[in-house]
Amino acid sequence: MTHTSDYDLVILGGGAAAFAAITEASRRDLSTAMVNTGLPIGGTCVNVGCVPSKHLLAVVENGAAAAENPFDAVRYPEEPTVDWADALDGTNELVERFRQENYVDVAEHFETDIYEGYGQLVDDTTIEVVDGADEGAHITGEKALVATGSSPWAPPIDGLDDVDYYTSETILEERDLPESILMLGGGYIALEWGQILHRVGVDVTVLQRSDRILSDMEGQLGREMQRAFEEEGIEVVTGNDFRRVHASAADGGAEAIQSGVAVETTVDGTERTITGDALFVATGVQPNSEGIGLETVGVETNDDGTVHVDEHFQTTNPDVYAAGDVIGEPELETVAAKEGNHAVKNAFGNEGVSIDYDAVPAVVFTSPEVAAVGTTEREYMDEHGTCSCRTVQMEDVPRAKAVKNTDGLVQVVKHHETDEIVGVHMVGPRAADMIMEATLAVKVGLTVDDIIDTVHPFPTFSEAIKQACQAFRRDTSTMSCCIE
Ligand SMILES: Cc1cc2nc3c(=O)[nH]c(=O)nc-3n(C[C@H](O)[C@H](O)[C@H](O)COP(=O)(O)OP(=O)(O)OC[C@H]3O[C@@H](n4cnc5c(N)ncnc54)[C@H](O)[C@@H]3O)c2cc1C
Repeated sequence: MTHTSDYDLVILGGGAAAFAAITEASRRDLSTAMVNTGLPIGGTCVNVGCVPSKHLLAVVENGAAAAENPFDAVRYPEEPTVDWADALDGTNELVERFRQENYVDVAEHFETDIYEGYGQLVDDTTIEVVDGADEGAHITGEKALVATGSSPWAPPIDGLDDVDYYTSETILEERDLPESILMLGGGYIALEWGQILHRVGVDVTVLQRSDRILSDMEGQLGREMQRAFEEEGIEVVTGNDFRRVHASAADGGAEAIQSGVAVETTVDGTERTITGDALFVATGVQPNSEGIGLETVGVETNDDGTVHVDEHFQTTNPDVYAAGDVIGEPELETVAAKEGNHAVKNAFGNEGVSIDYDAVPAVVFTSPEVAAVGTTEREYMDEHGTCSCRTVQMEDVPRAKAVKNTDGLVQVVKHHETDEIVGVHMVGPRAADMIMEATLAVKVGLTVDDIIDTVHPFPTFSEAIKQACQAFRRDTSTMSCCIE
């Protein structure tokens, strides 16, 4: 197709940021078009990210119910099993439904034209489709939005380019899993996928370069998760100085990608060779910013390849905005969406809206769950030279004791003078939902006394946050059940 069309807003990419942008644009009666390829419409989150991983985590959590059951009174006649191929079928069905209802139908509703193919900015706010079904189309907007997302990134380790490995995208196509997998990385994708694979029977070893997993989060969280993973039977090796990766003869399985892999590493000064049937690289993401014409239209990138934007998501070309993973951390679905929304508000309404990134929660959906918002103890110490932090162990929380689910902790960091809560970090059951109370506290500047003065339902895990706040004011070892 070779044609030229004009719109108010043209978008390069068709994921979370793009869809939030067309939603806001439609409120303003603006005409929109997007160009998408690579992943199907909807981008990472729905197709290969949040939706499949959270679905599969829930599947394997149910499969692990017998092993995790803490009650003597409950007996399982036999150990449940999870059929991986069936689990993938269920995931695909769910993804297709989500994609249709939340993306395809939504674009139709907002009368957004979708162009299929690889797009490049060729002249200010004009995108040309250079490859794919709509090759040759030129679309021009009053404004353009770059929302091309990110892709899995592999670190520069000798030999890695020469071996086959899974990523969070390719594993979703693997119906015949190997017996063992070496998981490179220790962030949230490595842990979520490590637990999924372990719980369907794969022997998983997590190999992390830093001295703890979840190295970007409060230190206690990584240590707690390493303990939980090891207790479950997942080996975790931290402090790796990776030297080389190469194919090796395997003990069994892994016909799908290769016959085995060996990672040569140095841990604590000792050289080790760790082998497995297959490798999974979950070491982060890189922005999709190359080969999309940024330099042609005067859009600058940062050293790490992310698109350079100001706090209003405007690039160095005033008519071109950017949002989502392509502008960098935190690479999260809701953040990408908020950025896409704000980019349109700023581009067409001159509203000057930005995001308070300190109040963005981060979650790992493993069991136990991990969630955090705001400043860590280390960051606070570095900035103020003092720490005002309290930690409560889940085993001291009445609900956790009552339901025999006591893994985890909650740490609250407050301002040492104003008592405002500046950070909350937790591991434990329901942490992903509990973090919202903490997020509001950080966002609106609630103090620990505001939380203490708020009646929490009893018995709930959310009382752990209140209990951690109480710990600033009193000895919590002599508290009755109601945490007053
Ligand atoms: C395994 C995994 C689990 C995740 N889980 C969560 C979670 O639980 N919660 C959460 O908040 N976030 C999660 N995320 C992150 C979340 O998916 C992303 O932050 C979000 O999808 C980014 O949205 P985006 O619009 O920036 O990019 P994307 O959703 O990636 O969309 C970009 C689209 O543009 C296309 N594209 C790229 N270049 C071009 C081009 N030149 N021409 C045409 N099309 C192009 C891409 O193929 C893609 O379809 C997860 C990510 C992964 C990988």
